[in-house]
Amino acid sequence: MGLVSDAIDGGGPSAAVAIEIEGLVQGVGFRPWVHRLALELGIRGRVFNGPRGVSVQAHGTPAALETLVERLSGEAPPPALVDRVQVGTLDEAAPATFRIVRSQGTHAARVALVPDQATCPDCIRQVRDPTDRRFGYAFTNCTACGPRYTIATGAPYDRTRTTMAAFSMCGACQTEYDDVEDRRFHAQPNACPRCGPQLHAAATGDPILAAAAALRAGGIVAVKGIGGVHLACDATQDDAVLRLRARKGRDTKPFAVMVRDLGEAARLAHIDAAEQAALLSAVAPIVLLSRRGGTLSEHVAPDGHSIGLMLPYTPLHHLLLREVTFPLVLTSGNRADEPIEIDDDEAAARLGPIVDLLLSHDRPIARRADDSVVRVIAGAPTVFRRSRGYVPRPIRLPSRVAEPILACGAQLKNTVCIVVDDLAYCSAHHGNLDHVRTAEAFEEGIEALQSLLGVTPKIVASDLHPDFVSTRYAKRRAGARWVGVQHHHAHIASVMAEHRLQGDVFGLAFDGAGYGGDGTSWGGELLSVSARGLSRLATLRPLWLPGGDAAVTEIWRGALALVTDAFEGQPPPWSQLPLFDQVPVGKREAVAQLLERRVCCTPTHALGRYFDAVAALGLRRPLAGHEGQAAMAWEGAAADDPGDYPFVLDVSMSPWQIDLRPGIRALVADLVAGAPTSAVAGRFHNTIAHASLAAVARATEAYGRRPLVLSGGCFQNARLTEHVLEGVDAAQTVFVARDVPPGDGGISIGQALVAGATMAGGH
Ligand SMILES: [Zn+2]
Ligand SMILES: [Zn+2]
Ligand SMILES: [Zn+2]
Repeated sequence: MGLVSDAIDGGGPSAAVAIEIEGLVQGVGFRPWVHRLALELGIRGRVFNGPRGVSVQAHGTPAALETLVERLSGEAPPPALVDRVQVGTLDEAAPATFRIVRSQGTHAARVALVPDQATCPDCIRQVRDPTDRRFGYAFTNCTACGPRYTIATGAPYDRTRTTMAAFSMCGACQTEYDDVEDRRFHAQPNACPRCGPQLHAAATGDPILAAAAALRAGGIVAVKGIGGVHLACDATQDDAVLRLRARKGRDTKPFAVMVRDLGEAARLAHIDAAEQAALLSAVAPIVLLSRRGGTLSEHVAPDGHSIGLMLPYTPLHHLLLREVTFPLVLTSGNRADEPIEIDDDEAAARLGPIVDLLLSHDRPIARRADDSVVRVIAGAPTVFRRSRGYVPRPIRLPSRVAEPILACGAQLKNTVCIVVDDLAYCSAHHGNLDHVRTAEAFEEGIEALQSLLGVTPKIVASDLHPDFVSTRYAKRRAGARWVGVQHHHAHIASVMAEHRLQGDVFGLAFDGAGYGGDGTSWGGELLSVSARGLSRLATLRPLWLPGGDAAVTEIWRGALALVTDAFEGQPPPWSQLPLFDQVPVGKREAVAQLLERRVCCTPTHALGRYFDAVAALGLRRPLAGHEGQAAMAWEGAAADDPGDYPFVLDVSMSPWQIDLRPGIRALVADLVAGAPTSAVAGRFHNTIAHASLAAVARATEAYGRRPLVLSGGCFQNARLTEHVLEGVDAAQTVFVARDVPPGDGGISIGQALVAGATMAGGH
């Protein structure tokens, strides 16, 4: 390791180095680990929390120091995450021992912000051990696990600035807390049954037994967790699941399910090695898996192809899942699309009427964090909802910003992001800002992030869409300078931020809708993108959607528009397309007339709308219960098929047009001929991949080779993403969203990157 030999003078028998470690290294048991490592390697010196992470001053043989640096970089035990290790010279006499010492110098509060961590195996063992003093204790944790972000009331992070402040440690807990050799050394939420938080339920006897009994009886139980209150019911009982749907006001969206262990998960879904690793990670997210059958009620995930599973991530969950013998639906405790409840009184008032029992406790939740959602795509996890377990871990950007930036995100799946120096801190998931309470949660989320980071940004970025709640907030923020960022520019920039890409890239931005700035909705775009600007190279031929917003749920309207356009005045075989039998004739004719005259029709380039329209045709389904439902069902229906449909890349237009009309005619012919739906869906996916790559190839001819970035909600479609990745030629580098969501949850960090570059460019 060159860095070490540079820093070591002369290579004598003993040398000294100063090591600076950045990343997620405070409040996670990192210093005790360094202490053990140093003792093992015979190194003397000290370790302490510093302004940018952890500092180590080490004296030892050159070989031992090299090993130390190597192991610091590569072996940090989870949940610690080492981002950067720098080695410098150290000029001082060697001390006699190796010690953990108090923090030195000014302490940047934000360094110590750590996400919540799923309960570790050591703590689970103690909770299950009848001889342990934490047997059956629902709030057991250690430096490797437990709540962090969601209990932090201020910064810097220590017990007095958490919702544990009201609980004073008993002698036994205090001894653990003070002992550098103990797993609970400086574990801020450290607690035991004698001194820590307690469960309660409005029922006699043990609260967990009472909750289990209510669940067994088909009841709905509100369970106060880490980042909010969940609603739970027996996932195998149809009646219970239907009752939950009715009471929550959620018609068709799938519910997530918590299973007791990996074995139970494997009975319900197919799980590969990457998916297993995601389930078992300290984030403990909901992992979207392909369903295998089993005992779940069909009403849990009505579309049937995929299922979101998660493992218990608190001792309370472990205790509850051991007591009941079935998997639990575990969904955000709210009414449809409102923010998850965190306040005890609000939860009781709002959820009380819809639950049979409230299983609660006396540790307040300081910050909201919904469960995160990931899906494994092309062998690695991509985060769809980046919330509990991720926030507030920052993402390091390719360059520094001169002053802090706030980016306000999109309207749907909203998150916000604040950049300080070269670190981007994204908020927890806020959701759909159409709802008043979510819009309030959005402003609270901004306040919370600002107070945690100790900044009030004067540069505020948002989408260009004038009607977004986030845009209006950004524009009216007092004393701030507004930077508008085009939606698909932000999608591509989010992936550039994650992978620290600088310079020009080609970006395929595929989603359901995004304000294009030219009066049309974009979303089937090949863009040339830098952090500062974009140009539109190619786009999908616009689809004229009759009835605007109605077309999002009445997807037969898009199908009508698609087929009408594709047949170019020739009569399509309407009578042989069973989809249209399900639409009243009068309604269909009225919409056809709107379409013919282009009255009340909105042009959209969005691939998501093409997916909806084709799914409606192929699945004979006129309606979608929620946005993206039909497109997901279409992906689920698709089988591997070598075939594809023709398309035209019209380079005489500006931007070039990807014209799928010949393909749609062939697809309709397939349907009329009775081809299996799975083959038609497979061929459609192939076609989109081929058409996009043809546009990329043409752009490469015209502008030279550049990295290719894929982003936008359509890349949550694993089949589409994998086809594009498999289809590129060997010389092409491709970047996909992994640590930022490809959907609109990733918009805020993309806006922040663009705003930073714009300010640096002096625009
Ligand atoms: Zn633990
Ligand atoms: Zn105690
Ligand atoms: Zn989007």
